[in-house]
Amino acid sequence: MNDLVRPVLTPPDGQRKVLLHSCCAPCSGEVMEAMLASGIDYTIFFYNPNIHPEREYLLRKDENIRFADKHGVPFVDADYDKDNWFARAKGMEWEPERGIRCTMCFDMRFERTALYAHEHGFPVMTSSLGISRWKNMAQINDCGKRAAAPYDGLSYWEYNWRKGGGAARMIEISKREEFYQQEYCGCVYSLRDTNIHRRNQGRSPVVLGENYYREASENKDG
Ligand code: SF4
Repeated sequence: MNDLVRPVLTPPDGQRKVLLHSCCAPCSGEVMEAMLASGIDYTIFFYNPNIHPEREYLLRKDENIRFADKHGVPFVDADYDKDNWFARAKGMEWEPERGIRCTMCFDMRFERTALYAHEHGFPVMTSSLGISRWKNMAQINDCGKRAAAPYDGLSYWEYNWRKGGGAARMIEISKREEFYQQEYCGCVYSLRDTNIHRRNQGRSPVVLGENYYREASENKDG
């Protein structure tokens, strides 16, 4: 644990056991250390079949496992059922980021998280997804609450992980740990759109596995 100053966190209904859906190490680093600092007993649930290609998926997952191991946090490595993700994304290939394809993507990931929480006795679920400034926090919270709603005794914790300095600590931790720095949100369509944007700016396409947070780097996406 480092010496960063954080608020004391209290999950809904004073619960102490939480299932944390994690999208990647840079986004979950601060969430993880904040929960550890508040003495919350949590498990990471890594379910992100949206990430494409598989090499990028493994880069992000392995980085998250490395950090979980460092803190002794349990890590559930869930399915990479990308065929189901592509089936649900059908017809939404050209939707913009933060649109209906992203709602589907959050819904799918949170539905599986809620099911796991229900089956394994977690009264609270939450996610690292909302800490990224590139995401629509209200959209994510709506999806989280919708996923938890069918299960009695399960709450979605919609804490704003950006506040109280969380957004800045996310970058500090990423640099300290030299996390892999992804250049796009995750799916093949976000990779395509990022490369279109880069080409329009005269930049070269994304190269997987190339960038890692360093002292001089900034957050690109999460
Ligand atoms: S842009 Fe990101 S959130 Fe939206 S569908 Fe693609 S991977 Fe999911």
